[in-house]
Amino acid sequence: MPKKRSVAQVGRSLCKNKYTVNWAITRVCNFKCEYCVAYRKRDKATMPSKDDLERAIRNISLIKKRRIDLSLTGGEPTLVKGLSGLVSSFFALAGSKAKKVTILSNMSRDHKYFDQFFRGIECPEKVKFIGSFHPTQIDLDRFIEHGIAVNSNGGVFSAWLLAVPGQVDFIRHAYDSMLTEGLDARVKIVRDGSKVDGRYAKEELDWVVHAIGEEEKNVDLLWSSGRWESYSQNDVLAKDFNHFRGMRCAGGMIRVAIEDDGSVYRAVCERGKVAPYGNIFSGEVDWSFMDNPMICGYNECRCGLAT
Ligand code: SF4
Ligand code: SF4
Repeated sequence: MPKKRSVAQVGRSLCKNKYTVNWAITRVCNFKCEYCVAYRKRDKATMPSKDDLERAIRNISLIKKRRIDLSLTGGEPTLVKGLSGLVSSFFALAGSKAKKVTILSNMSRDHKYFDQFFRGIECPEKVKFIGSFHPTQIDLDRFIEHGIAVNSNGGVFSAWLLAVPGQVDFIRHAYDSMLTEGLDARVKIVRDGSKVDGRYAKEELDWVVHAIGEEEKNVDLLWSSGRWESYSQNDVLAKDFNHFRGMRCAGGMIRVAIEDDGSVYRAVCERGKVAPYGNIFSGEVDWSFMDNPMICGYNECRCGLAT
């Protein structure tokens, strides 16, 4: 039997100067999506205090990289009081290192909210809202209206539509409506572990694959033989290459994962499994972990780093 090939590294470089800080700023949310992964923790979810936010942003600004992208997720980040001030402080404290802020939102906040949010931001074009569309929780017209509010305030809006099997006709209608209104929209496929969800009808899957089309990122894999090959993310899964145990991973080197309690991990796969590398709320973070790659301890990556 031929020996199974193993992946030694994902991505050409482990040492880019671009660094993404992925911070789950709160688990509090005003929606109740049945598939929510943050849902289980929501009963005990807390909001960061004003002092927490100030200490956190000072700490993040100290990261020694040429470019820092701050990504805020939840829960629902727009429920955090002082979010606009936090974003402004990041641009002010990190200076030329602060390239972009991305906020993953359910887009429940209205025009008034976005008018106020952007009033305090000097460079709105560096602030992107990714609107995750949850059709059981928000009406399509309201979602579109709120997305337009981001763009009309000078920000950047992009919608993410999860193509849930059995609901693809509606998602297709929503996607077409967003494009008609001049909004950027991306379709996301539903996976079951490392495989595409088997519940898709053929016509549904055909459309989803077509809609995802060219936006699929390429993944560069270095095999243990020393050979580089490039695949689409879907191909990595379809060809069953998603076996990364023992591989060098860029978690911590190009990205960091921060929990709602301020704990710092190199990637979300470490959450709760190792002691955190410090806490951004207390000001004690040893960022030296970013000098060395992680060695993956898992058969599949669900952190979004490798696929
Ligand atoms: S909007 Fe997001 S965080 Fe809120 S319940 Fe839905 S999936 Fe969970
Ligand atoms: S599971 Fe963790 S260590 Fe493994 S590839 Fe994904 S992010 Fe890296």
